Amino acid sequence: MYLKSLELSGFKSFAKKGVFDFTSDISGIVGPNGSGKSNVAESFRFALGEQSIKSLRGKRGEDLIFNGSKNIGRSNRASVKVTFDNKKRFLDIDFDEVVIERVVHRDGVNQYFINGSQVRLRDVAELLASANIGSSGHHIISQGQADRILNANIKERKEMIEDALGLKVFQYKKQESQRKLQKTEDNIAQVESLRKEIAPHIRFLKRQVEKVEKSIAMREELKGLSLDYLKRESEYINYNKKKIEEDRVAPEKELKELESKLQKAKEVLAKSDEADEKSEELINIEKGLADIRAKKDALVRELGRVEGQLAGEERRIEKEKEEQKVLENRTVSYSELDKVAQQVYSQLDDGDTKNDTEEIKGILRTVGSIVRDFMSTTFSGEKSVDVDYSELEKMKNEKTELDKKLEGVSEDESTYNKKYNTLKKEIETGKDDSREAEREVFSIMSRQSELRIVLSKLSSKEDEVSHAKDDFERELQEVAVLVGRAVLDYHKYDLNMNSEDIANEDRGMQEERRRKIEKIKIRLEEFGGGSGEDTMKEYKEATQRDEFLEREIVDLEKSAEALQDLIKDLEEKLSTQFKEGIEKINKEFQNFFSLMFGGGKANLSVIREKKKKKSDTDLSDIEGMPELEEEDGEEGIDISISLPNKKTQGLVMLSGGERALTSIALLFAMSQVNPPPFLVLDETDAALDEANSKRYGDMIESLSKYSQLILITHNRETMSRAGIIYGVTMGSDGVSKLLSVKFDEAVQVAK
Ligand code: ATP
Repeated sequence: MYLKSLELSGFKSFAKKGVFDFTSDISGIVGPNGSGKSNVAESFRFALGEQSIKSLRGKRGEDLIFNGSKNIGRSNRASVKVTFDNKKRFLDIDFDEVVIERVVHRDGVNQYFINGSQVRLRDVAELLASANIGSSGHHIISQGQADRILNANIKERKEMIEDALGLKVFQYKKQESQRKLQKTEDNIAQVESLRKEIAPHIRFLKRQVEKVEKSIAMREELKGLSLDYLKRESEYINYNKKKIEEDRVAPEKELKELESKLQKAKEVLAKSDEADEKSEELINIEKGLADIRAKKDALVRELGRVEGQLAGEERRIEKEKEEQKVLENRTVSYSELDKVAQQVYSQLDDGDTKNDTEEIKGILRTVGSIVRDFMSTTFSGEKSVDVDYSELEKMKNEKTELDKKLEGVSEDESTYNKKYNTLKKEIETGKDDSREAEREVFSIMSRQSELRIVLSKLSSKEDEVSHAKDDFERELQEVAVLVGRAVLDYHKYDLNMNSEDIANEDRGMQEERRRKIEKIKIRLEEFGGGSGEDTMKEYKEATQRDEFLEREIVDLEKSAEALQDLIKDLEEKLSTQFKEGIEKINKEFQNFFSLMFGGGKANLSVIREKKKKKSDTDLSDIEGMPELEEEDGEEGIDISISLPNKKTQGLVMLSGGERALTSIALLFAMSQVNPPPFLVLDETDAALDEANSKRYGDMIESLSKYSQLILITHNRETMSRAGIIYGVTMGSDGVSKLLSVKFDEAVQVAK
């Protein structure tokens, strides 16, 4: 016996707590009409999870709670507890006793408890399904519901039979699996759409990340190039700065020296003005000298003349002395005389032709001189006998005088000459100095301009270096912004070259490096600023999420597959067990049926509903149109019976009693095949005549060997089979009361 007790409080007419102890295989519940017996049957269904309030004869949950009466106030809640003996673990829970309780409150809220712990309805349903106590209520037959299985459609019948066969638990599992499958598929679709949704973002991020990675690589390249460039540039600047300073020292010093030299040379040049004065003096001296020379010349000439005269005088005196000796011996030849005469004649002849006195005078003088010359040559000294020396003395004095004068003039000349030469020498020397100075000025100036060129070259080099320094500073700042402060340590960068080689490298190469750096900078700027850390992080998160979703889809697909397999397994199990079950039920059904009717045939068969194919335009009603094809509908159970000795076949043709008997036969068959722990039959025997009541009683007794029976009845025969009987009465207070009665009392109470 599994069912131990039923406790109602506040449920419908049971305002006060009432407890039924089901200590017998067959328990009877008796009582007058309207006392609350059916409420008891319903209380079972309620406790075991019935969801249809209507099937509990109510509209709302509230209708199940004691509504109050004249003297007694209404209850706030209805509670029903069913207690099972679970020593045999027919319920899949590790308790020897299991109490299932349901409470409904006035606000319509339901609560379910298993052994006092609140649980979900599903937990109750699953626990009971495993013990073949289904919620379809095939084991609780309410009043007037015995033939429910006959009235039901084929599909409902199938459900009831599945329930009776204990297949409900597989159905639950199948439904649960289908629900899970549906949910899984929904999840897959959801996850897939989520993936689809984020895919463009990931693609976008990927491109961004590629850009970031590229820009990181470019930054790295830029860093390397910049370190090299900056190191070289700084070496170039520092080296050249120092070198320019050094190179400047010598020319500047030289320039300074040249400046003072130039000053001196200029001073020398200034002195050449004085030389001009000297030249003037020289000219004066020259003039003086010329005068002296003219005087000297005149004196020499005078002296010459005087000396000539003196010599002449001396010769004359000599001659006179000679002549005095010769004259006495002198003879003149004719020819000599003739010669002179001829000369004179010629002259005279010539004179005859002349009229001009002056010309004649001239001829006379010539004649005179011819004669004189003849006389003097032929008879010289002949005339003076005394030699006159006075003239000679005079001339000698004159000569002495002249010699003295000449001596004086010569002295003067010598003085002047000396003066002249000294001055000339001076001037010449002065001229040499000034030429030298001039040469020096020129040479200094040319050297100066050379040096200035050198210095100006150094200056422009300095400018160049200073520009390079400005550019360097700017470059450094810019690069630091782009690649970080590490680049500020450029000086630590090892080029493995000495400063001189670095500085003297062809600038074109450095320029080439700068251009390369510039290009990268421009490209970096195109890529936009920022380290891209956020993008990387976002991409990583997004891909991780996507990977997670991908894994989730795989997992979900796996579990969907597993669920499909499970569903298939369950369906196979259901199908085979259902078929086997139907066969068994049919056997029992036939037995009970022929027992009830003394023969006849009863059979359940699995059929598939035929339904007309639906089309968009159903033209079947139009005359002349061909019938629409039929297609397979839902599977269900058909009941075919044939009564003994009667032609009538089919359920619809049965009388009320016959229907009741058929129902009972089927119910009992179902219960026999897979006996529920207990069966509640509410006036299932109502329509039976005496003979059938007896058969019914027999069947009950045999059935009670498999299932505990709770029979609500007015039937005496039925009551007689019960081991324990509860009487339910209702007084004027509208409250059902419970009492344990003996069989004899029971008949009384039932009335
Ligand atoms: P019968 O033998 O005629 O079938 P019964 O003993 O089965 O009668 P029930 O149908 O179980 O009687 O009980 C009906 C009684 O329960 C009625 O008197 C009804 O007023 C009472 N009842 C039903 N719901 C409530 C409720 N919520 N509060 C109080 N009484 C209720």
